[in-house]
Amino acid sequence: MTVHVVKRAEQRTVVGSDYYGGIVVDEYGGLHTAKYHRALRDLARRCGASLRSHAAVERIKRTGTRFSVHTVRGKVDAKRVLVATNGYTGNLSPFLSRRVLPVASYHIAMEPLPPGLMDVLNPGRRMISDSKRNLFYTRPSPDGTRMLFGSRPSFREVGEREAARILHAKMVQLWPALRDVRITHAWKEIRCDDR
Ligand SMILES: Cc1cc2nc3c(=O)[nH]c(=O)nc-3n(C[C@H](O)[C@H](O)[C@H](O)COP(=O)(O)OP(=O)(O)OC[C@H]3O[C@@H](n4cnc5c(N)ncnc54)[C@H](O)[C@@H]3O)c2cc1C
Repeated sequence: MTVHVVKRAEQRTVVGSDYYGGIVVDEYGGLHTAKYHRALRDLARRCGASLRSHAAVERIKRTGTRFSVHTVRGKVDAKRVLVATNGYTGNLSPFLSRRVLPVASYHIAMEPLPPGLMDVLNPGRRMISDSKRNLFYTRPSPDGTRMLFGSRPSFREVGEREAARILHAKMVQLWPALRDVRITHAWKEIRCDDR
Protein backbone atom coordinates (compact mmCIF):
# COMPACT_ATOMS: atom_id res chain seq x y z
CA MET A 1 0.00 0.00 0.00
CA THR A 2 1.39 3.44 -0.94
CA VAL A 3 0.63 6.22 1.52
CA HIS A 4 1.55 9.92 1.16
CA VAL A 5 1.32 12.51 3.90
CA VAL A 6 -0.38 15.67 2.65
CA LYS A 7 0.48 18.78 4.64
CA ARG A 8 -2.15 21.38 5.40
CA ALA A 9 -0.59 23.82 2.90
CA GLU A 10 -0.96 21.27 0.06
CA GLN A 11 -4.25 19.69 0.99
CA ARG A 12 -6.36 21.56 -1.56
CA THR A 13 -4.70 19.43 -4.23
CA VAL A 14 -6.63 16.54 -2.63
CA VAL A 15 -9.70 18.06 -0.96
CA GLY A 16 -11.03 21.59 -1.34
CA SER A 17 -11.44 22.28 2.35
CA ASP A 18 -9.63 23.76 5.35
CA TYR A 19 -8.84 20.54 7.11
CA TYR A 20 -5.60 19.85 8.97
CA GLY A 21 -3.73 17.89 6.37
CA GLY A 22 -4.12 14.15 5.95
CA ILE A 23 -2.94 11.12 4.06
CA VAL A 24 -3.57 9.80 0.57
CA VAL A 25 -3.64 6.04 0.12
CA ASP A 26 -3.02 5.42 -3.59
CA GLU A 27 -4.84 2.09 -3.67
CA TYR A 28 -7.86 3.35 -1.72
CA GLY A 29 -11.03 2.77 -3.70
CA GLY A 30 -14.73 2.09 -3.68
CA LEU A 31 -16.43 -1.26 -3.77
CA HIS A 32 -19.73 -1.83 -5.58
CA THR A 33 -21.41 -3.69 -2.76
CA ALA A 34 -24.14 -5.22 -4.91
CA LYS A 35 -21.55 -6.71 -7.30
CA TYR A 36 -19.44 -7.89 -4.36
CA HIS A 37 -22.49 -9.51 -2.80
CA ARG A 38 -23.41 -11.21 -6.10
CA ALA A 39 -19.86 -12.54 -6.54
CA LEU A 40 -19.75 -13.92 -2.99
CA ARG A 41 -23.16 -15.53 -3.48
CA ASP A 42 -22.09 -17.16 -6.76
CA LEU A 43 -18.85 -18.40 -5.23
CA ALA A 44 -20.71 -19.89 -2.26
CA ARG A 45 -23.07 -21.69 -4.67
CA ARG A 46 -20.17 -23.03 -6.73
CA CYS A 47 -18.69 -24.38 -3.49
CA GLY A 48 -21.92 -26.28 -2.82
CA ALA A 49 -23.81 -23.90 -0.51
CA SER A 50 -27.58 -23.75 -0.76
CA LEU A 51 -28.89 -20.21 -0.15
CA ARG A 52 -32.40 -19.13 0.90
CA SER A 53 -33.22 -15.44 0.93
CA HIS A 54 -36.10 -13.73 2.73
CA ALA A 55 -36.09 -16.50 5.29
CA ALA A 56 -35.54 -14.70 8.60
CA VAL A 57 -34.73 -17.18 11.33
CA GLU A 58 -37.18 -16.90 14.20
CA ARG A 59 -35.99 -19.68 16.48
CA ILE A 60 -33.17 -22.22 16.78
CA LYS A 61 -33.92 -25.36 18.78
CA ARG A 62 -31.40 -28.00 19.78
CA THR A 63 -32.62 -31.60 19.62
CA GLY A 64 -29.95 -34.05 20.75
CA THR A 65 -26.89 -33.47 18.54
CA ARG A 66 -28.83 -31.58 15.83
CA PHE A 67 -30.58 -28.22 15.45
CA SER A 68 -33.98 -27.23 14.09
CA VAL A 69 -33.78 -23.79 12.51
CA HIS A 70 -37.26 -22.29 12.20
CA THR A 71 -37.50 -19.63 9.50
CA VAL A 72 -40.46 -17.65 8.18
CA ARG A 73 -40.31 -19.92 5.11
CA GLY A 74 -40.04 -23.26 6.88
CA LYS A 75 -37.79 -25.44 9.01
CA VAL A 76 -34.20 -26.54 8.32
CA ASP A 77 -32.52 -29.46 10.06
CA ALA A 78 -28.81 -28.83 10.68
CA LYS A 79 -25.82 -30.47 12.27
CA ARG A 80 -24.16 -27.12 12.95
CA VAL A 81 -25.47 -23.54 13.08
CA LEU A 82 -23.37 -20.43 12.61
CA VAL A 83 -25.17 -17.26 13.70
CA ALA A 84 -23.76 -14.27 11.77
CA THR A 85 -26.57 -11.76 12.19
CA ASN A 86 -24.37 -8.84 13.27
CA GLY A 87 -26.20 -6.13 15.23
CA TYR A 88 -29.62 -7.15 13.84
CA THR A 89 -29.97 -10.33 15.89
CA GLY A 90 -33.04 -9.27 17.88
CA ASN A 91 -34.87 -11.95 19.85
CA LEU A 92 -33.20 -14.77 17.95
CA SER A 93 -30.28 -14.78 20.38
CA PRO A 94 -30.59 -12.58 23.48
CA PHE A 95 -26.95 -13.49 24.27
CA LEU A 96 -25.75 -11.90 21.01
CA SER A 97 -28.23 -9.05 20.86
CA ARG A 98 -26.99 -7.82 24.26
CA ARG A 99 -23.43 -7.71 22.93
CA VAL A 100 -23.63 -6.42 19.33
CA LEU A 101 -25.72 -3.31 18.73
CA PRO A 102 -26.82 -1.84 15.40
CA VAL A 103 -25.61 1.70 14.76
CA ALA A 104 -27.40 3.04 11.73
CA SER A 105 -25.42 4.68 8.96
CA TYR A 106 -27.01 7.22 6.64
CA HIS A 107 -26.18 8.66 3.25
CA ILE A 108 -27.23 11.60 1.12
CA ALA A 109 -26.79 12.32 -2.58
CA MET A 110 -26.80 15.88 -3.86
CA GLU A 111 -28.23 17.24 -7.08
CA PRO A 112 -25.65 17.55 -9.92
CA LEU A 113 -23.05 20.17 -8.96
CA PRO A 114 -22.46 23.31 -11.00
CA PRO A 115 -19.76 22.76 -13.66
CA GLY A 116 -16.22 22.88 -12.25
CA LEU A 117 -17.20 22.61 -8.56
CA MET A 118 -16.23 18.93 -8.22
CA ASP A 119 -12.78 19.86 -9.57
CA VAL A 120 -12.37 22.21 -6.61
CA LEU A 121 -13.94 20.06 -3.86
CA ASN A 122 -12.57 16.67 -4.81
CA PRO A 123 -10.06 17.19 -7.65
CA GLY A 124 -8.88 13.55 -7.73
CA ARG A 125 -12.48 12.17 -7.56
CA ARG A 126 -11.31 10.15 -4.53
CA MET A 127 -13.08 8.32 -1.74
CA ILE A 128 -12.49 10.61 1.25
CA SER A 129 -13.10 10.10 4.95
CA ASP A 130 -11.87 11.74 8.12
CA SER A 131 -10.36 10.04 11.16
CA LYS A 132 -12.83 11.06 13.86
CA ARG A 133 -14.62 8.44 15.89
CA ASN A 134 -17.89 9.35 14.21
CA LEU A 135 -16.32 9.71 10.81
CA PHE A 136 -17.82 10.81 7.51
CA TYR A 137 -17.27 9.13 4.13
CA THR A 138 -17.78 10.84 0.83
CA ARG A 139 -17.21 10.26 -2.85
CA PRO A 140 -18.43 11.59 -6.17
CA SER A 141 -21.13 9.62 -7.97
CA PRO A 142 -19.61 7.30 -10.62
CA ASP A 143 -20.41 9.86 -13.34
CA GLY A 144 -18.62 12.54 -11.29
CA THR A 145 -21.55 14.97 -11.19
CA ARG A 146 -22.97 14.51 -7.69
CA MET A 147 -21.53 14.47 -4.21
CA LEU A 148 -22.42 11.46 -2.07
CA PHE A 149 -21.92 11.88 1.67
CA GLY A 150 -22.40 9.45 4.55
CA SER A 151 -22.06 9.51 8.31
CA ARG A 152 -23.82 8.61 11.55
CA PRO A 153 -26.02 11.50 12.58
CA SER A 154 -26.90 10.05 15.96
CA PHE A 155 -26.33 6.94 18.06
CA ARG A 156 -30.07 6.28 18.00
CA GLU A 157 -31.95 5.69 14.77
CA VAL A 158 -33.56 8.76 13.24
CA GLY A 159 -35.77 9.26 10.20
CA GLU A 160 -34.10 9.80 6.83
CA ARG A 161 -35.27 13.44 6.70
CA GLU A 162 -33.75 14.30 10.07
CA ALA A 163 -30.59 12.36 9.19
CA ALA A 164 -30.32 14.18 5.86
CA ARG A 165 -30.51 17.56 7.61
CA ILE A 166 -27.74 16.61 10.08
CA LEU A 167 -25.55 15.11 7.34
CA HIS A 168 -26.01 18.16 5.16
CA ALA A 169 -24.87 20.42 8.04
CA LYS A 170 -21.79 18.21 8.53
CA MET A 171 -21.02 18.29 4.82
CA VAL A 172 -21.35 22.07 4.69
CA GLN A 173 -18.78 22.36 7.51
CA LEU A 174 -16.39 20.53 5.23
CA TRP A 175 -17.50 22.21 2.01
CA PRO A 176 -19.35 25.53 2.61
CA ALA A 177 -19.79 25.82 -1.18
CA LEU A 178 -22.44 23.06 -0.98
CA ARG A 179 -24.72 25.07 1.35
CA ASP A 180 -27.31 25.75 -1.38
CA VAL A 181 -26.95 22.48 -3.29
CA ARG A 182 -30.10 20.41 -2.80
CA ILE A 183 -30.30 16.87 -1.47
CA THR A 184 -32.05 14.55 -3.93
CA HIS A 185 -31.76 11.22 -2.07
CA ALA A 186 -31.31 10.09 1.53
CA TRP A 187 -31.11 6.51 2.73
CA LYS A 188 -29.81 4.33 5.51
CA GLU A 189 -28.17 0.96 5.78
CA ILE A 190 -30.91 -1.67 5.45
CA ARG A 191 -31.68 -3.69 8.54
CA CYS A 192 -32.85 -7.28 8.50
CA ASP A 193 -36.31 -6.40 9.88
CA ASP A 194 -36.82 -3.63 7.31
CA ARG A 195 -37.20 -6.09 4.43
C1 LIG B 1 -22.08 2.50 5.52
C2 LIG B 1 -21.07 1.44 5.90
C3 LIG B 1 -19.80 1.49 5.37
C4 LIG B 1 -18.88 0.50 5.68
N1 LIG B 1 -17.66 0.57 5.11
C5 LIG B 1 -16.76 -0.41 5.35
C6 LIG B 1 -15.50 -0.40 4.72
O1 LIG B 1 -15.19 0.49 3.93
N2 LIG B 1 -14.64 -1.40 4.97
C7 LIG B 1 -14.97 -2.40 5.85
O2 LIG B 1 -14.16 -3.30 6.05
N3 LIG B 1 -16.15 -2.43 6.48
C8 LIG B 1 -17.05 -1.47 6.24
N4 LIG B 1 -18.27 -1.48 6.87
C9 LIG B 1 -18.53 -2.54 7.86
C10 LIG B 1 -18.92 -3.84 7.17
O3 LIG B 1 -19.94 -3.60 6.22
C11 LIG B 1 -19.42 -4.81 8.24
O4 LIG B 1 -18.42 -4.94 9.22
C12 LIG B 1 -19.73 -6.17 7.63
O5 LIG B 1 -20.72 -6.07 6.65
C13 LIG B 1 -20.18 -7.12 8.72
O6 LIG B 1 -20.45 -8.35 8.06
P1 LIG B 1 -21.30 -9.46 8.77
O7 LIG B 1 -21.43 -10.59 7.80
O8 LIG B 1 -20.75 -9.74 10.14
O9 LIG B 1 -22.73 -8.80 9.04
P2 LIG B 1 -23.78 -8.18 8.00
O10 LIG B 1 -23.16 -7.87 6.69
O11 LIG B 1 -24.49 -7.07 8.74
O12 LIG B 1 -24.77 -9.40 7.79
C14 LIG B 1 -25.69 -9.82 8.80
C15 LIG B 1 -26.81 -10.49 8.04
O13 LIG B 1 -27.65 -11.18 8.96
C16 LIG B 1 -28.97 -11.07 8.47
N5 LIG B 1 -29.88 -11.38 9.59
C17 LIG B 1 -30.05 -10.71 10.75
N6 LIG B 1 -30.95 -11.31 11.52
C18 LIG B 1 -31.39 -12.40 10.83
C19 LIG B 1 -32.32 -13.43 11.10
N7 LIG B 1 -33.02 -13.50 12.24
N8 LIG B 1 -32.51 -14.40 10.16
C20 LIG B 1 -31.81 -14.37 9.00
N9 LIG B 1 -30.90 -13.42 8.68
C21 LIG B 1 -30.70 -12.45 9.60
C22 LIG B 1 -29.07 -9.64 7.98
O14 LIG B 1 -30.14 -9.49 7.06
C23 LIG B 1 -27.71 -9.51 7.29
O15 LIG B 1 -27.78 -9.90 5.93
C24 LIG B 1 -19.22 -0.53 6.58
C25 LIG B 1 -20.52 -0.59 7.12
C26 LIG B 1 -21.43 0.39 6.79
C27 LIG B 1 -22.82 0.30 7.37
